[in-house]
Amino acid sequence: MNIHEYQAKELLAAQGIPVPMGEVATTPEQAEAIARKLGGAVVVKAQVHAGGRGKAGGVKLASTPEEAREKAQAILGLQIKGLTVEKVLIAPAEDIASEAYVGIIMDRASKAPVWMVSAAGGIDIEEVAHTNPEKITKLPVDTRYGFLPHQAYFLATKLYSDVKQQRAAAKILEQLYRAFVEAGASLAEINPLITTPDGAVKAIDAKFNIDDNELFRRPAIEGLRDTSSEEPAEVTAREANLTFIKLDGDVGCVVNGAGLAMATMDLVKYYGGEPANFLDIGGSSNPEKVVNALKIITSDENVKAILFNIFGGITRTDDVANGIVTATKQIDIQVPIVIRLTGTNEEIAVKILADAGFSAMTDMDEAVKKAVALAKGEAQ
Ligand code: GDP
Ligand code: MN
Repeated sequence: MNIHEYQAKELLAAQGIPVPMGEVATTPEQAEAIARKLGGAVVVKAQVHAGGRGKAGGVKLASTPEEAREKAQAILGLQIKGLTVEKVLIAPAEDIASEAYVGIIMDRASKAPVWMVSAAGGIDIEEVAHTNPEKITKLPVDTRYGFLPHQAYFLATKLYSDVKQQRAAAKILEQLYRAFVEAGASLAEINPLITTPDGAVKAIDAKFNIDDNELFRRPAIEGLRDTSSEEPAEVTAREANLTFIKLDGDVGCVVNGAGLAMATMDLVKYYGGEPANFLDIGGSSNPEKVVNALKIITSDENVKAILFNIFGGITRTDDVANGIVTATKQIDIQVPIVIRLTGTNEEIAVKILADAGFSAMTDMDEAVKKAVALAKGEAQ
């Protein structure tokens, strides 16, 4: 789950990290009122689940409340990486002497949280990672011991030469690590971590990705979810208890079990197709899940064919067959459906489908090949 910058900043401030706090506005008038209340120059910042807002025109300085209103007017409604800006953060503007990057990610390869810090932070950090990787210092954390003070100090020395700033940064790194762990995050970063001309160290942008599997025991973090910023199909799927990830292809896949779903996507690719989604309808299926799955898949205009691949173990294939029949009565499905099912109650399932005018296959290769061909308009 992604959260907004203003929410991420609240997580940082809760740990004691110096963050210039602002307020969120949804209209230019609100932006002006907040700027007036804050007094002085402000920065108006698009709140969308995307980085690179600065380069996309989503971060603008304003020296008066009137100017804040104008900047908010310009940013609200803007499209950034396909997302419409519905909220802006109005925060006190800072004078910047330097911009550093500090971030921690859960790294699969290291099987540990790994720090990345660089004195060359700011909006070009991706480019620095590409062209000057030696400017980024990495450090894994051994979670048996946690993030130790000497490690924090070591990283801080990579950012600043001034001892006071090193101490300030070391403290911020330890606080950021706590925020990362307590939020169940897979990524927590501050970019930029700035120094001001008078020497203070502050966080003026923050980003967190939360591990979805950590949410059930963190209702306060789950409460930060903004469904208006999420893929609508993924929101519907989550509410229907389906595991769904939207992809860019044209073969819609309905599969039971995550492993079979992965294998199905591999096979779609193997036969020259592109999956439109990952969808796991789960181990025990009921017709309603199938109905919801088909509604979600058919709402994707890219889908040119739908492939069911069901292995009946605990899942009863006759349940799935009933779901397909019910769903096709409820929804006007415009694309061909290929059904492969095998296992528990397959004879009953085949009969249910045959009575409704569908033919089911039992061979996975054949079914995938057919779905790929149908999606390309090459088969009947
Ligand atoms: P991002 O582009 O989405 O990462 O948004 P950021 O919040 O990181 O802002 C991008 C850039 O705008 C920063 O790297 C700064 O250079 C600049 N910026 C952001 N806030 C301020 C501010 O308060 N004062 C000044 N002078 N520049 C700012
Ligand atoms: Mn940033």
